[in-house]
Amino acid sequence: MTIETILPMPDIFSAKRILCIQPHYDDNDIGAAGILTQLARNGAELFYLTATDDLMGVVDATLSNEDAAAALKRDQFAAARIVGVKEQYWCGYPDAGEYNYFDLRRDFLKHIRILKPDFVFAPDAWLTYEGHRDHIQTGLAAAEAVMFAGLTKIASSDPKVDSAYEGHSIHGIALYFTREPNFIADISSTWEDKIGTVRCYEAQFDPEGMEQLVFALDMKSQQVAQGQSFARGEPLKVLHTSALHVGI
Ligand SMILES: [Zn+2]
Repeated sequence: MTIETILPMPDIFSAKRILCIQPHYDDNDIGAAGILTQLARNGAELFYLTATDDLMGVVDATLSNEDAAAALKRDQFAAARIVGVKEQYWCGYPDAGEYNYFDLRRDFLKHIRILKPDFVFAPDAWLTYEGHRDHIQTGLAAAEAVMFAGLTKIASSDPKVDSAYEGHSIHGIALYFTREPNFIADISSTWEDKIGTVRCYEAQFDPEGMEQLVFALDMKSQQVAQGQSFARGEPLKVLHTSALHVGI
């Protein structure tokens, strides 16, 4: 018997309701739009939850916060139409700013208890050399919210949600932006869709920055597919929820 037989890697293709938690408006799509588009086309319902207001990344510094927020949402909805996202939610914490980790976790717990996803996507909080606190906090709070969803003594940000929650099963968590993937998703059939989503994020990238991002994604998607039977991949760390604590 091996550890894999006790805690097998959950099958993301079995997911029916997927909550994708991201620090900024574009992270889910840059990290995982290829596989998420496939899953939506296979019939899964996708929900996106964005932790911050993302205002620091807007290229045009002359825009008011209101206009910048509208531009970000316009881009995000355009990308969501390509992926097939069913619903979007926002926490609105200040991008790269001061906010409380436990408030963030409470908000994630609330959405998990309301939406009852069977799979959660989030950035890998343990990515080596990740310098952006929003990514670390979002990834960790998502992992904790997955682990603690059933423990209603651990409060969400809405007591009514906690008292109404009757429990549900989360099959696994898929961490994107990871250096320790255990699954390379074949995204050959949705590569063009993925790049289409990335190109929607015009408010956050000037033309040169966008071309650099597309080039990097192009190279990376082929690099991670080396040795596989397909041409382009997305690296993911897919974990059983019980594998999120003390490594056994
Ligand atoms: Zn980000």
